[in-house]
Amino acid sequence: MKRPDTPACALILGFAAALALLYAPAPSRASLPDLTLAAPRETPLGAPSAIPAPSLAPEPLAIPVVPPEPPLPAPPKEVAAEKPPSLPAGEVARLPAAESPVPSFSRGSGDQKHVALTFDDGPHPIITPRVLDELRARGVKATFFVIGERVKSYPWVLRQVVAEGHEIGNHSYSHRLLSGMSEEMIRREVGDTQAAIRDAIGYETCLFRPPYGAFQPNANAIFREYGMNVIRWSVDPRDWRNRDAMLISNRVMRESRNGAIILCHDIHRATLQALPVILDTMLGEGYVFKTVSELCGLPPLRIITASHAPSRSASEAKN
Ligand SMILES: [Zn+2]
Repeated sequence: MKRPDTPACALILGFAAALALLYAPAPSRASLPDLTLAAPRETPLGAPSAIPAPSLAPEPLAIPVVPPEPPLPAPPKEVAAEKPPSLPAGEVARLPAAESPVPSFSRGSGDQKHVALTFDDGPHPIITPRVLDELRARGVKATFFVIGERVKSYPWVLRQVVAEGHEIGNHSYSHRLLSGMSEEMIRREVGDTQAAIRDAIGYETCLFRPPYGAFQPNANAIFREYGMNVIRWSVDPRDWRNRDAMLISNRVMRESRNGAIILCHDIHRATLQALPVILDTMLGEGYVFKTVSELCGLPPLRIITASHAPSRSASEAKN
């Protein structure tokens, strides 16, 4: 009998052993340590566990401490304007005398490409008529916030402004800071300017721009008394500081947005020189220039004065 081939037999046996090892059953779960039972027990409230439960929250990052920014001056407060009821032509809609807020605007609605160009501190006997020339040449209407004592000096300039369809606002009588003034002084600043405007053009205004944009709460009663809307601005090219036409026009064009109220001064030559570039560029971009009352949705400003004696009686009482 032929003996089996020993090397072949060993190979087969080895292969079988390897298969047996490969398909051997895994050790039973019970034979492994049960790691899932290792969680710590909940401890009663008030008795924290000696070993705190591991937190899943990531390690807090070290945040560098940034010093807080210095507080900015409070922006002009915008109060939703209550539209006064419509009154017969020739009268102004007065706000209730009580504690109603004084309507205040620093911009108009941004819904459309409308802006308002405003000129402060005039009328000026030379520059204001030149400003009017530039506006007229382009069919643009603007709003002029005038100083009472200059209206007294140059009433014919104010009449020309009105005759060309522009709007008038009150910018105080002496251009002094209202903050710190007594109520009586503020009343004279506002009222004497109303009187000067009325004497020049036959009616008053219910737009008021405080000198430097500033006033204190004691002015509110006077603004209410005169039915004033306080108008500030959203674009200030600082033509009062930098008498540089290119700088002024660049600032206006860069900072103007829909609804902008643009602050300029019709007493500086640089502003006059900047005006054609501002107007031509912005008109070319599709902006439409509105008066302040149009931009802010205020009623047409025509104030008759017979019933409006406080300014007169107050100032005359002092004289
Ligand atoms: Zn001013």
